[in-house]
Amino acid sequence: MDIVKKNVLLAPYTTWKIGGPALYFAEPIIKELPELIRWATTKNIPIYFLGRGSNVLINDTGLTGLVILTRNSLNELRRESDLIVAGSGVFLPHLSQFAAKQGFSGFEFLIGIPGTVGGAVAMNAGLTVYRPREMTAIVKDFDVLNLDGSIKTLTMEDVKATYRHTDILDRNCLILQARFLLQEPGNPDEIKVNTFAHLAERKRKQPLDKPTAGSTFKSPPGSKGAGWYIEQAGLKGFQIGGARVSPVHANWIENIDRASSNDVWKLITHIQNVVLKEMGINLETEIKYLR
Ligand SMILES: Cc1cc2nc3c(=O)[nH]c(=O)nc-3n(C[C@H](O)[C@H](O)[C@H](O)COP(=O)(O)OP(=O)(O)OC[C@H]3O[C@@H](n4cnc5c(N)ncnc54)[C@H](O)[C@@H]3O)c2cc1C
Repeated sequence: MDIVKKNVLLAPYTTWKIGGPALYFAEPIIKELPELIRWATTKNIPIYFLGRGSNVLINDTGLTGLVILTRNSLNELRRESDLIVAGSGVFLPHLSQFAAKQGFSGFEFLIGIPGTVGGAVAMNAGLTVYRPREMTAIVKDFDVLNLDGSIKTLTMEDVKATYRHTDILDRNCLILQARFLLQEPGNPDEIKVNTFAHLAERKRKQPLDKPTAGSTFKSPPGSKGAGWYIEQAGLKGFQIGGARVSPVHANWIENIDRASSNDVWKLITHIQNVVLKEMGINLETEIKYLR
């Protein structure tokens, strides 16, 4: 297949800047997808989907399959009456700004989430602390391409969206595009103020100057976030190899010195063990480990 490249290093395609080569790698436009999927499935090549790599840890040994990257080729963004239609590769801050330009509120929370529409729908991305909101609040429905070549339109209920999870993550299908409801007409100045407030809140609380994947763990049940438990366990600033628990926000792991996937995974496991032993709390990862 012409559009398939071999041995493409994945680290530059992730926000952690970690990850070995993909054996096969492609950035297809919509019409190239059916043939690409057929090529991989008939050869029994495993398929991985990658948006902006802002919620994944990729193994240093790489992925012996086909990585389909959406961020550059599936990024059409348009308005259709009371909807926004966005390709799966659309950058969430662009979607936020586009909705604001149309005079609609409700998308401000996306301004600081550096992922794509496809990744955010698959993860049911959102905020839990500052003005809580999730993708479920704005997604009308979305189209997925299954590995048998069929296309289906689904809703967030169809894929049992819960806190940072949908069944898409277990189904191995590609989100092609999503439709968003424009349901909250807003005052442009207020939207701008809200958008800046989101960015300011992040700047105050998050290590935005370091390569990270955002929150490493999901919030456990109860009122305290994962970062609170990690900090109470004395792990803020704790380091393994080039990976460090952020001194700014303990639920974020920073790549401060050419961290390997193994450094990060060892640190994640260490945090889970210490927090379980000392506080009886099970921390579940929010990030996905692709290996
Ligand atoms: C600085 C920073 C801040 C963050 N803040 C937040 C936050 O406030 N809230 C939040 O929820 N998350 C946050 N995140 C995490 C992340 O940005 C979101 O989860 C985002 O939605 C992931 O999108 P992505 O395109 O990067 O997905 P990726 O990391 O590329 O992929 C994530 C998962 O989705 C799957 N996937 C990606 N695209 C598709 C597709 N088209 N079809 C099917 N499956 C797909 C992948 O296979 C993988 O399993 C943050 C991350 C960073 C680095």
